Amino acid sequence: MRYSKFLLPTQKETPADADTVAMRYMYKAGMVRKVSAGMFHYLPYFNMIMRKVEYTIRRGMESVDCSEVKFPLLIDREILETSGRWTAFGKEMFHLTDRNGADYTVSPTNEEYATLLAEQFVKSHRDLPFSVYQIQRKYRDEIRPRNGVVRSREFTMKDAYSFHANDEDLMVYYNRMADVYASIYKKLGLKVVPVVADSGAMGGKICHEYMAISEEGEAEIAFCDDCGYAANLETVECVDNKKIDTTYKGHWEEIITPNSSTIEELVNFLHCKPQDFVKSLVYNADGKLYMVLIRGDRQVNESKLAKLVGATNLELATEKEIKSIGSVLGFVGPIGELKNVKIIADYEIKGMRDFVVGANKKDTHLRGVDACDLKCDWADVRFADNHDCCPKCGGKLNISMGNELGHIFALGKRYTSCFNTCFVDKDGYKKQLTMGCYGMGLERIVASIIDQHHDEKGIILPMNVAPFKVDLVVVDVNKPEQSQVAEKLYTTLEDAGVPVLYDDRDIRAGAKFADAELIGGPIRVTIGRRAAEGVAEIDIRETGEKLEVNIIDVLAKVKEIISSKM
Ligand SMILES: [Zn+2]
Repeated sequence: MRYSKFLLPTQKETPADADTVAMRYMYKAGMVRKVSAGMFHYLPYFNMIMRKVEYTIRRGMESVDCSEVKFPLLIDREILETSGRWTAFGKEMFHLTDRNGADYTVSPTNEEYATLLAEQFVKSHRDLPFSVYQIQRKYRDEIRPRNGVVRSREFTMKDAYSFHANDEDLMVYYNRMADVYASIYKKLGLKVVPVVADSGAMGGKICHEYMAISEEGEAEIAFCDDCGYAANLETVECVDNKKIDTTYKGHWEEIITPNSSTIEELVNFLHCKPQDFVKSLVYNADGKLYMVLIRGDRQVNESKLAKLVGATNLELATEKEIKSIGSVLGFVGPIGELKNVKIIADYEIKGMRDFVVGANKKDTHLRGVDACDLKCDWADVRFADNHDCCPKCGGKLNISMGNELGHIFALGKRYTSCFNTCFVDKDGYKKQLTMGCYGMGLERIVASIIDQHHDEKGIILPMNVAPFKVDLVVVDVNKPEQSQVAEKLYTTLEDAGVPVLYDDRDIRAGAKFADAELIGGPIRVTIGRRAAEGVAEIDIRETGEKLEVNIIDVLAKVKEIISSKM
């Protein structure tokens, strides 16, 4: 491709609402232009990267014998009412009515169509597993489109559906699909972790979300590189691994702390650190009062607490309720005469000594309290953080933000029971099929690739996803000794099957180099001053490595670099 003939409008400025690194580079690198909230023009360079992503996904689906189909974009109301989803998706979906007054939804996902297809093609156990996928545009009436192409109103999804004789077969296939997902993301150069997730509106039992690690991610996740454990941060168990030291007991003393009821005020007043305190928070859980003790710099995980005490409604206690237990708002503590309150301390406090707690008296705290002074139940009631260890193997727990790139579900008979989709088993009995579904967002993959592979100059595309392996830059197109060599090299590379972006524009060389770095092709070949001597320069974007090569050896060297990085 000749740059002079190609629609690749790089630019310096980005719109104010380009709120992520990925979006800023997509604008700068001429990949997208915004139409309106959540709607974009996708330009050629973006589409070429998408084709690379699609290629990798298609190879993955083939490897689990999944066949490509295309379902209609519109689903009529009757079908969605049969599955109970006409109302379940609510206002997120676009609806329309045809000239005869029939209602349709623009398909969110296609469990219903896949089930109807299985009904046609699966007659007996010999037709199983039956597995299809499509790569299709999806539409969503987002209330607040954000993060550019990540949460837009129109996007591309790969959605796959599999049908099986029983749940054991389903899980075998589900696990194969999980492996394929891991390998697809890996081939695309992405660091992605599978997190056990809540299945929400989709129904079903087992499901995993595939989260791309990102500083700008939408969800907090924890993962362990040693054993592969991963979970939404909220659900990560904190391990009970601290021992109570019983050598110290009853060493505490009262201190006057005027107007210091928050941790921040106490830190300033006592000149110590938040982790030298134990916070005492009183909760009303379905009418019962609980005092929760937690290290000063930690957060109570209210969903863990609600589960622990079996409450549906959990709120911080009112001033009146705090008074009723025999304490004072802002100076609550676990030591002393308290009524009608159960004390629960976080496991971590077991390892603490010589800390400060409220004294249940105005402007007063107790200093020098030790874990063994506490009369309480011990439990896991806080959010894990990166000081915690992996609950599965004890290894290092990493906490990061993540973006969901894919989601797989073992649905079971959620849909096949609605349509009574059956097959005849080995013994001649008619049985309902069981089902899995497997989604993957594509624009999000491109955004994550940029998010995980860039520097201050621009994108650094992994070899597998780069549409052009080589950016061929001629420094001065008006110098025949350079342009003739470049033209010839362009043909040589293209004829050898190496995709090249040939920068033949009549502009400053500096601007060409900046664009090459911005769009992030893996190899740059420069034909400049030394062309007359038969020398070209090769720059590798990822490593910053520079090589001088004889022009006749460029093809061989380029091929060597490509094969070393694929
Ligand atoms: Zn682990």
